[in-house]
Amino acid sequence: MHEFAGIPCPVGRVTRLDLPVGSREDGSPLEIPVLVLPGLRPGPTLLLVALQHGTEITGTEIIRQVLDQTDPEHLAGHIVAVPVANPLAYLAHSQTTPRDGLNLNRVYPGNATGSITQRLAHALYTTCVRAADAVIDFHTNSFPALHWVIAKVEDTPQSARSLELASAFGLTPGRYSRSRERQLVGTLVDAALDLGIPGILVELTAHTMLLAGPISVGVRGTRNVMKALGMIPGAVEPQDGALTIPDGFTTNNRLRAGAGGLVHHLKQPGEPVVVGEVVAQVRTPTGALAEEVRSPVAGFILSYPRFHNQAVMTGDHVVFIASRD
Ligand SMILES: [Zn+2]
Repeated sequence: MHEFAGIPCPVGRVTRLDLPVGSREDGSPLEIPVLVLPGLRPGPTLLLVALQHGTEITGTEIIRQVLDQTDPEHLAGHIVAVPVANPLAYLAHSQTTPRDGLNLNRVYPGNATGSITQRLAHALYTTCVRAADAVIDFHTNSFPALHWVIAKVEDTPQSARSLELASAFGLTPGRYSRSRERQLVGTLVDAALDLGIPGILVELTAHTMLLAGPISVGVRGTRNVMKALGMIPGAVEPQDGALTIPDGFTTNNRLRAGAGGLVHHLKQPGEPVVVGEVVAQVRTPTGALAEEVRSPVAGFILSYPRFHNQAVMTGDHVVFIASRD
């Protein structure tokens, strides 16, 4: 018998518990569901997190399949899984929490007396992150996009271990530095690193969709990490079939529309681009060319984001382009 957050978790089967965060207007509890699978043998605790952003449902299905495929007889250590990290964003079909407008994956380590998103982060941080020996945080981009794995490059053992786990996961590596990639700070993985715990952020496709290909990539990658951690037997499997740029990137250049209209994608994810190359066109609904979007860097296409629609207004994201320092 093991326990998690004070709740008994019998060895060899999945126990569901609900992390208390607060309550709603009608007095009903606001909780974060957590699934705990203790293996029969001692080993590390791997934390799997999905749906920090409320439309990124792919990770939730990856968690279900990983738990389903894991034989506790051959599991060394524990899987602790959070299939719906932000229940408020999930219920609202929103990336962020509607009530306070905050992005859960930018407010770690959270605040026990703050707004509701800060309290969600605090509950996850104190109960789940602190208990982990390694972390995988699942996210998605809209389609079309490459799949990639982000690890933070710092002069620490946990950063070096994170890069190893990213390599084991087996997709295009994004090696970010916190000082340069200012859009991705205050994340759950950052909080883990600050505790000395390695962690990776996985970006698959697609928002609001359960696609069999990316889900199998995510399950294989997660099992690869479990193999690298010594939690399950077997060799790391290559991610055959997933387009991968092995050299990876250090910067995600997020280009925005200067003019509104319909976005025409001129390249494919993974395709190389040169400085000044036109990678997208924006055309008005009446057919006029409103803008040619040119790459300011040499690199390759990561994705053409379309969070709501392939129609954009000035200021909306049009294309993400990877580059290396
Ligand atoms: Zn996300």
